Amino acid sequence: MPEQQVQGSYLVRTYGCQMNVHDSERLSGLLEAAGYVPAPDGASEADVVVLNTCAVRENADNRLYGNLGHLASVKAARPGMRIAVGGCLAQKDRGEITRRAPWVDVVFGTHNIGSLPVLLERARVRDEAQVEILESLDVFPSTLPTRRESAYAAWVSVSVGCNNTCTFCIVPALRGKERDRRPGDILAEIEALVAEGVCEVTLLGQNVNAYGSDFGGAADGHGGDREAFAKLLRACGQIEGLERVRFTSPHPRDFTDDVIAAMAETPNVMPQLHMPLQSGSDTVLKAMRRSYRQERYLGIIERVRAAMPDAAITTDIIVGFPGETEADFEQTMHVVREARFSAAFTFQYSKRPGTPAATMDGQVPKAVVQERYERLVALQEEISWEENKKQVGRTVELLVADGEGRKNDSTRRMSGRAPDNRLVHFAVGDVGHSAVGDIGHSAVGGTPASELPRPGDMVSVEVTYAAPHHLNADGPDGGSAIKALRRTRSGDAWQARQEQPESERRPAAVVLGMPSIGRPAAEPVGQENACGVC
Ligand code: SF4
Repeated sequence: MPEQQVQGSYLVRTYGCQMNVHDSERLSGLLEAAGYVPAPDGASEADVVVLNTCAVRENADNRLYGNLGHLASVKAARPGMRIAVGGCLAQKDRGEITRRAPWVDVVFGTHNIGSLPVLLERARVRDEAQVEILESLDVFPSTLPTRRESAYAAWVSVSVGCNNTCTFCIVPALRGKERDRRPGDILAEIEALVAEGVCEVTLLGQNVNAYGSDFGGAADGHGGDREAFAKLLRACGQIEGLERVRFTSPHPRDFTDDVIAAMAETPNVMPQLHMPLQSGSDTVLKAMRRSYRQERYLGIIERVRAAMPDAAITTDIIVGFPGETEADFEQTMHVVREARFSAAFTFQYSKRPGTPAATMDGQVPKAVVQERYERLVALQEEISWEENKKQVGRTVELLVADGEGRKNDSTRRMSGRAPDNRLVHFAVGDVGHSAVGDIGHSAVGGTPASELPRPGDMVSVEVTYAAPHHLNADGPDGGSAIKALRRTRSGDAWQARQEQPESERRPAAVVLGMPSIGRPAAEPVGQENACGVC
């Protein structure tokens, strides 16, 4: 087979949620399949720059056009450079993007990410901008080539779109009605990923609990197979080599007891749940059109805890939704006290043009929202810390992470995720420096490669310290905290990637993370939409 001619370098910038991260891995895979190579690390420019946009916040537009303004001068100095804009804001703004930024070459939507390479070529050949937006899904992005960010963990989408109509959310308008992948396709993808060395998958959907509602064409959200998601979780339990299964995001309205049972009875489904609350007030939940109330929400939490006492539960909360009174807000605080979340992503409500809530009466003054927001964050911070303190003394097995510890170099620690997704920084001891870089580790005391765990490996450690948003595991007398090291095929896959030539090793620039237990940023980066995944 003739060597594919290199078309040039590419860079994918991702904004918004995990669904966009998943799509960006596909965009990178498509471009590499078309002969492009990833631009060098940290590069701010490339022959092709793709902005995969989010439409959730007011400033999302400003940020896109601001970035495009900056790219105009870069492109002027780099003849032949092409700019493509995709994602939710492209699906919403369409030709408006090339009208406001005529130096943009391609605009594609959320339903046709597979068209990018063809549109880029058409723009080059015809030397004119190409705008292609579809109203419904072309092909499932999961069927497209991919360039995964991680060697040992992967996102697996189970559905796209959403049948709900939350009044603050623009997703249904931009990603359409829910379309579910066939279970066989999902399980085949997971088996292929495990064969490549992946040991953890996160099942992804705007509302994973509605999975199956599309089976048999009953796209009303209430037809199809109501137990499909629980069955899918149990089927994941049969996959040899798949150590950890997570999912995001569930929806309290559709969260049923068969899912709790499947979680509790399937060993590789992790005891961790990200369940968006949004508000604790029944009046506000009604105005949000969330189709559940406080009692149902707390009932689910109670049943999850009964079935999995060690489960860590996180959530999303919007403060200052139109019409929210002090009494309503107090209901949110009440649920937070009752639910004892391990962490919460908290948002100050901001209008999203095009959503019903944007034109609702009773918009809450910014100062009031800010004051309530600060009270909520303070309460949750306290609870997160108290819940973390209960972990001290526990021995946990960690999936060693790649680059989750900002201070690891100086603290001679590495980091990993516990089964409940808590972030743990663990000491690796203080031995010679000879091995630094042997397997790509930055300076962690130079422990001989044969003794150092690799990202993707599993280590057992005892938690010795709790902070509000992470845990530490330190060894005796400043030594290693590692009680047991289990080398895995995922560690091998990570090491094999480190040994690849620089140009092949690097995935595209993905700027995002998953709802996890760790310090939630003031305005959590990436979790732009208040619905976890969407
Ligand atoms: S907030 Fe989530 S569940 Fe609600 S409409 Fe948006 S994507 Fe759907």
